[in-house]
Amino acid sequence: MPTYEYECERCNHRFERFQRISEPPLRRCPKCRSMVRRLIGPGGGIIFKGSGFYQTDYRTASYREAAKKEKEATASSSGTEKAAKGDKPSASTKDAGTN
Ligand SMILES: [Zn+2]
Repeated sequence: MPTYEYECERCNHRFERFQRISEPPLRRCPKCRSMVRRLIGPGGGIIFKGSGFYQTDYRTASYREAAKKEKEATASSSGTEKAAKGDKPSASTKDAGTN
């Protein structure tokens, strides 16, 4: 039985569902009842972790931890925010791209 992955278009809640191929796709978010979209192709059963758009949400825990620490460090040192910001986007883009 394939695993289907859905994402809510409103609250971005993401969840997986085991369903038969013959079962209709879910339409509603279990949290807010808004429309959800399925992140895989019909009948595929392969979770969509590939290129681009959804990548940011699949960042590893270690990445988040590092980013958080970086943020805290930036926040504690006032006046250097602009310099730090100039450095960051290229770094994070690079990180996402290599994954
Ligand atoms: Zn929702």
